[in-house]
Amino acid sequence: MNLFLTGGAGYVGSACLRHLLKNGHNAIAYDNLIEGNRGSVPGGRLVVGDIADVDAMADCMRSERIDAVLHFAAAASVPESIKNPEFYYRSNVLGTKGVLDAMRRSGVRRIIFSSTAATYGFHARMPMTEDAPQTPQVPYGSTKLAAEWLIKDYAKAYGMGYTIFRYFNASGADIDGEHGEDRRDESHLIPLALAVAVGRRPRLLIFGDDFETQDGTCVRDYIHVDDLAQAHELAVESLEPGMGRAFNLGSGTGVTVLEVLRACEEAVGFPINHEIVDRRPGDPGVLIACPQRAMRQLGWSPRYTDIRQIVGSAWRWRRTHPDGYREPAEPAIEVDALYAGR
Ligand code: UDP
Repeated sequence: MNLFLTGGAGYVGSACLRHLLKNGHNAIAYDNLIEGNRGSVPGGRLVVGDIADVDAMADCMRSERIDAVLHFAAAASVPESIKNPEFYYRSNVLGTKGVLDAMRRSGVRRIIFSSTAATYGFHARMPMTEDAPQTPQVPYGSTKLAAEWLIKDYAKAYGMGYTIFRYFNASGADIDGEHGEDRRDESHLIPLALAVAVGRRPRLLIFGDDFETQDGTCVRDYIHVDDLAQAHELAVESLEPGMGRAFNLGSGTGVTVLEVLRACEEAVGFPINHEIVDRRPGDPGVLIACPQRAMRQLGWSPRYTDIRQIVGSAWRWRRTHPDGYREPAEPAIEVDALYAGR
């Protein structure tokens, strides 16, 4: 199929892009490169542009005869969303509306959307199934839920089909060690712990040890980025206009922050400097997915479910790329060049 990946130079988007290319699809990344990395996208597969630019997306979808859109582009940091909700509503809600409008204009009728466990908010019952009430507690979760509503309403009115994936904690790096997680402004646990290990940060801050969990630190469900990529491939291949589905993507097991830290120390082979500090606003104590629906309905089977495998892959990449991505050898196609004279 011909696939258009917004945010296709980002962490999860680029892992899916590479996976889809490897499995015989024709896919291009559309990314503004604010958080994305050119080096994460194979040569000639990148169109540089913003999801605020509906015309550019519609032109690209038309000229590339796109069959389905995978919409990854988003702002995705919980703490930043609390400080700057305006940017989150603009990127995640208006941005999604722009993607849907470009699809309408160019006649694309399938969308796969990257949503999040943060749309559920705080719940006592774990693991979380897809029919748990969606009561987000932070702007990141609210904006992703609003985007889900947009997609559902557009799909019903305009004959589109959608798959919504609610990711739990996307983590790890390509198993081949060539690609990994590299953001300008990192807020996630595993890359921050490994940044301390390579000497790029002085210490890891652990946000709270007074939660009601086995060791007092937060429990999360870490899911390998290659397993997310497999779910996207299965969804793309089975999605038809008129269909509407939502799936949790997690491993089904919970791991505490201290257990992640121990796994990181085991991978790197030495202690990682850390300090326990106050809770971070908006952090639920426990988030664990029930992934049964995706397994049953898509035939999804996550492969890298042990936190040591996940952290090990992240470390293989970080150890060999302490400075993250460098410029790739092959030039990208610039959107201005592609659509010059439009
Ligand atoms: N965390 C932490 N220190 C950090 C970053 C994260 O203790 O520097 C904790 C955070 O409180 C949460 C878990 O690690 O319990 C995972 O956080 P992350 O930001 O990676 O993902 P989130 O669960 O917010 O999507």
